[in-house]
Amino acid sequence: MATLELDSVTKTFQDGDEEIVAVDDISMSIDDGEFLVVVGPSGCGKSTTLRMIAGLETITSGTIALGDRVINDVKSQDRDIAMVFQSYALYPHMSVKQNMSFGLEESTDLPDDEISRMVTETGELLDIGELLGRKPKDLSGGQQQRVALGRAIVRDPEVFLMDEPLSNLDAKLRAEMRTELQRLQNDLGVTTVYVTHDQTEAMTMGDRIAILDGGELQQIAEPLKCYHEPANQFVASFLGEPSMNFFDVTRDGDRLVGDVFEYPVGDDVRANLGETTDLVLGIRPEAIELVEGESDAHEFEMTVDVVEPMGDENTVYLHFDPDADPESAETLVATIDGFTRVSEGDTVTARIPEDAIHLFDRVTGEALH
Ligand code: ATP
Repeated sequence: MATLELDSVTKTFQDGDEEIVAVDDISMSIDDGEFLVVVGPSGCGKSTTLRMIAGLETITSGTIALGDRVINDVKSQDRDIAMVFQSYALYPHMSVKQNMSFGLEESTDLPDDEISRMVTETGELLDIGELLGRKPKDLSGGQQQRVALGRAIVRDPEVFLMDEPLSNLDAKLRAEMRTELQRLQNDLGVTTVYVTHDQTEAMTMGDRIAILDGGELQQIAEPLKCYHEPANQFVASFLGEPSMNFFDVTRDGDRLVGDVFEYPVGDDVRANLGETTDLVLGIRPEAIELVEGESDAHEFEMTVDVVEPMGDENTVYLHFDPDADPESAETLVATIDGFTRVSEGDTVTARIPEDAIHLFDRVTGEALH
């Protein structure tokens, strides 16, 4: 079993007098055969986490275990883990075949013809069978990427670690490789930890995603769970494009009072808020509806500032108070059907459905509802 377990893993770097906590007390358990995507903004500790699992970075405290074996002090080459880097890291003077066989020749006693058979098989699996005689410089970016993957796959490791492996490819190729990588991982059933800052990759590729910020684990769960039930305001804002709308509100009885609007909430919502009064109300752009008239307390008259037509949908930027200067007014982003015609300057009614709102503690950011 290749379960991978991180228990209270911390990594600090010393930068002169300053101590940088790159990874802060992270615990997570990755199942055998699982595809875990680690995602977060630049500097959140993704690569450091991966490098500690790979044995390329020492662990300041905590343990990392592969199956029953704690691997903190096991050398990188003895961990049965293969890593694919963003830069591919191919040896330029070696052919594709040599690049793929080199690791096996170094770390195993397998006979040459067996290694050759394994490389050929992996080459075919990745559709690079024709390229085995070429040098990396004679390959396209996408082909180099496949060779880097092939080099990892041919070793038949217990764990794959991938650090932004698709980020050097153009958008179309990246989308193709996303699907192909998922298929491969699924067929091979190898436990995989995949680092990216790209939320599309996170949402579409992983069985689960682990979202990091400031070295801390914010949430680890299935992608849709993180999207629909974010653990805190950071996760809510990180996932989704355009981002969730947020408004500071203060609870007053059964109303949430914002700067420019009031929003009544029912018993179900209130029950989740406890005694907390300082809140942030969140609503996803796609949850907002444009309706006719203004008939209930969850509907607001607004002015359209900008419309961005995207074809199948429009992104509409609105502000609440129709008389207010848009520069100073509270604004809202809505994603609506592409056939709905709205123009700059229109007055519209936007509905914020109560069953779609999120509420966060304004001090801790924790999701309450
Ligand atoms: P990116 O997406 O930009 O690659 P990341 O999420 O992978 O970022 P890390 O590379 O893990 O982030 O870095 C986490 C933090 O640790 C950053 O603040 C970084 O500057 C710091 N850091 C990483 N390596 C070192 C080092 N060798 N010495 C000092 N600080 C480091």
